[in-house]
Amino acid sequence: MARLWVNGGSWVEVKDAEGINIVHLTVDNKEIAVSGGQTILEAVARMPGIGNIPALCYHPAVKPNGACQLCTVEVSENGGSKFRFVVACLYPVKEGLVVKTNTKMVRKRRKGIIEPLLARCPNVKKIQELAEEYGVEKPRVALLGEDCIHCSLCLRACQETIGKAAISLVTQGIYKEVAASFYGYQVSEEDCIGCGDCAFVCPTGTIQMGPDGKPVLPKVKIPYSEVEAMSKRSSYFL
Ligand code: SF4
Repeated sequence: MARLWVNGGSWVEVKDAEGINIVHLTVDNKEIAVSGGQTILEAVARMPGIGNIPALCYHPAVKPNGACQLCTVEVSENGGSKFRFVVACLYPVKEGLVVKTNTKMVRKRRKGIIEPLLARCPNVKKIQELAEEYGVEKPRVALLGEDCIHCSLCLRACQETIGKAAISLVTQGIYKEVAASFYGYQVSEEDCIGCGDCAFVCPTGTIQMGPDGKPVLPKVKIPYSEVEAMSKRSSYFL
């Protein structure tokens, strides 16, 4: 019989209920029982005090896509003799799975993910907090002063919860940016219903709702003429 931990300090015994898919696994040396058909991140998020799994590109209302990889954990499927890294927001819970959410190696991986995020978005509070927690003091690369991490949560929320595509990630590489159709910084009247879902799920808080009831999107920090020139160069090779 597995233990279901409650708030990290106490636990209750969980019996297998007929007709309910219960999965038993171990998370950070605690045996837990959860319902099957969910990911490690979902299971741990529902159990306060169990595990330590940060995530930036995840929101329970939107399908996970593993974009930020910050939720990387170690798992073993053979009782704990051999571990490997997996992305917790995509990896399903399984019977007998052993999960380690906060090992030295896991923390090192997360640190390597947070450092470039801090270089890109040095003024975003959420990134600053993660940097402090994982010991990232000063990025080795130049600070960019952006506030969007390209996690795509905003556009996935628009598509999945509203069924629209008012915003998208446009262009490529360092020019990639969240924008409305035709690279507009204001979303179009026809596509956007002003629900604010994009602003609600954004982990950095960079999308704000404007006075017109439509979201104001993060702006590129390079002149628009450069973007235009770059897109012309790209189309030359098509
Ligand atoms: S605007 Fe926010 S939600 Fe959208 S990609 Fe950037 S950080 Fe993610």
